[in-house]
Amino acid sequence: MKCRECKEELEVARSCGRVRMRCTGCQKIYQIHEVAADLDDKTVAILERYTAIIYD
Ligand SMILES: [Zn+2]
Repeated sequence: MKCRECKEELEVARSCGRVRMRCTGCQKIYQIHEVAADLDDKTVAILERYTAIIYD
């Protein structure tokens, strides 16, 4: 999926026990709930690997 700011790819980033989406371009961090509506199948598949996702 793409960053809303710069259109680069977002990657799943795990930190402090929480999962975030991080832009590979501008390094902007998105919380999952911010981008939940835009999650694509590929990203969902990655997120499903994390057993303790916190949608905060
Ligand atoms: Zn970006």
